Amino acid sequence: MPKADAQPELTQLVQEFHLLFSQPNLADSVKKDAAASVRKEPRKAAIYLAALKIERERYTDANSTVMQNIIDVLVDAEIYPKTTPTMQKHGYSHLTMVESWGVDWHTWKAEVLNCPHCNADLRDLENGPPFMRSIGVEIRGLYDGVAYNQCPDCKGNWSRKGTPLSKDQAQNISRDEIFTI
Ligand SMILES: [Zn+2]
Repeated sequence: MPKADAQPELTQLVQEFHLLFSQPNLADSVKKDAAASVRKEPRKAAIYLAALKIERERYTDANSTVMQNIIDVLVDAEIYPKTTPTMQKHGYSHLTMVESWGVDWHTWKAEVLNCPHCNADLRDLENGPPFMRSIGVEIRGLYDGVAYNQCPDCKGNWSRKGTPLSKDQAQNISRDEIFTI
């Protein structure tokens, strides 16, 4: 079965959105009405986020007008925050946040939001979402990526899946264990 048939409703909505939101001088009232409808029915935000994701995944072929118009709706509907500390600090636009960190950039979506050892809040509130305070520890020669995570406060460790690890377990983690424990 072609992929397009898997979510006919969504595919059709995305196509409709594309047509509507690709107008370069889209009337503000169209966006305002869309935002009002998302505010009334927050579950609709998922459709806008899905449409934005599809457009983003076209990468170099992505239509930035479509993306910006959908972003404007999500900001107006208060799904996306107006700004975050990182956006202010670096002058990043919403479009930059979406392009760099994905359409869910506005949420903290790590496996572990509180340290499993000391319960510290690991969300990076100083920089805003999606940034975490937890430290991704890499072990050179073992795996080209994060082997396990560490709490910046108590130095406690946990696996990528969120299992607490003793200092010894973390230091001696095997390549297999990175993904299995
Ligand atoms: Zn901790």
